[in-house]
Amino acid sequence: MTTNGRAPLASLRRITSTRPEPVVGERCEMCAAPITDEHPHVVNLESRALMCTCRGCYLLFTAEQATLRYRAVPDRYLSFADFSFGMGDWDDLQIPVGLVFLFKNSVQDRTVAFYPGPAGATESELPLDAWERIEAANPDLRVMQADVEALLLRGPDREHPGFSCHVVPIDACYELVGRLRSLWRGFDGGQEARAAIDDFFARVEKRSRPVETTGS
Ligand SMILES: [Zn+2]
Ligand SMILES: [Zn+2]
Repeated sequence: MTTNGRAPLASLRRITSTRPEPVVGERCEMCAAPITDEHPHVVNLESRALMCTCRGCYLLFTAEQATLRYRAVPDRYLSFADFSFGMGDWDDLQIPVGLVFLFKNSVQDRTVAFYPGPAGATESELPLDAWERIEAANPDLRVMQADVEALLLRGPDREHPGFSCHVVPIDACYELVGRLRSLWRGFDGGQEARAAIDDFFARVEKRSRPVETTGS
C-alpha cells in the first residue's frame, strides 16, 4: 500500500485555513459559473481538496460506482437506532479530544480518523482493526460512502453521558473543524468550542434520519 499520509491533512489544512464561505461572486471551481452561498461540493479524490460547484457540475459526479477522479458529497445525515459502541471502543481509537470523524479514503484504501484542534484537523493513526471491529458490530455502516461521508463520533462528557454517532457529509466535518480551529482554547477546546460542538450536533440530530437497515 502506498500511503501518502500528508495529503489528507494538507488539504484539510488548506480547507480549514481559508476564510469561511461565502464569498460574494463565488464561482463554480469546475466551470466558473456563478454560484450562491448554498452550493454543493465535490471531492478531488487524489488531492482530497473540496471544490465548490454548481448543481450541473455536481451532478456529473454523483454516480457511486463510477471510477472518477471526483465524487459528489451527498447531502444526507444518518442516525443509528442502536449503534453498538462503548467506552472500550472509544478508548481503542485513542483520540485525545472528545470528537472524531472517520472516513474511508478509497485512494489509500484505508479508513482514516481526524480530530479537531487549534491547528485545524489532526490525523490520528487508527489502531489496526479498530475500524473493522466497529464496522463488524454495526453492519449498517456499510451504507457510508467512501471519501465523501464520515462517521462523526462524540465521546461522553459530563453533560452528554452517551456517545453521539452519525454519518454526515464530509464537507460538514470540514466546516465544523474550520469553526473550531478559531475557537479552540487549551487542551479540550474550552467553553466556546464546546458550545459550537453542541450547536453543530443539535443541527445534525435535527437533520438526521434513521439509517435503513441493511439486509432487507
Ligand atoms: Zn459548474
Ligand atoms: Zn463551497
